[in-house]
Amino acid sequence: MKIKISDNVLIVAGKEKGKTGKVLKILKKNGKIVVEKLNIRTRHIKKTPQKAGEIIHYEAPMAVSNVKIICPNCSKAVRVGYKLLDNAKKQRVCKKCDQSLDRTEVTTKTTRKS
Ligand SMILES: [Zn+2]
Repeated sequence: MKIKISDNVLIVAGKEKGKTGKVLKILKKNGKIVVEKLNIRTRHIKKTPQKAGEIIHYEAPMAVSNVKIICPNCSKAVRVGYKLLDNAKKQRVCKKCDQSLDRTEVTTKTTRKS
């Protein structure tokens, strides 16, 4: 999965098309994500003798294929590429500006060469 939690994404299909939001949750199993304040559904909880009825708003998962990552560097909805790092780890990069999309994974430790 190319998308990670706290990525900013642009919705490219469905009723929220054109909106942007932050990824809150990733449901790997069914290929869906939950985006903050988007795809809001309403659930009516029926009242019971013990409890009053309630209306709950919640963010429904949407398909990963309906969103595009917004690059934090060039602020465009972009396609994701991969770059192999020196430590053999893969890094997600923006296909437009070639910058890393993993701004949260800035490593502070410096590797010393012996
Ligand atoms: Zn970019």
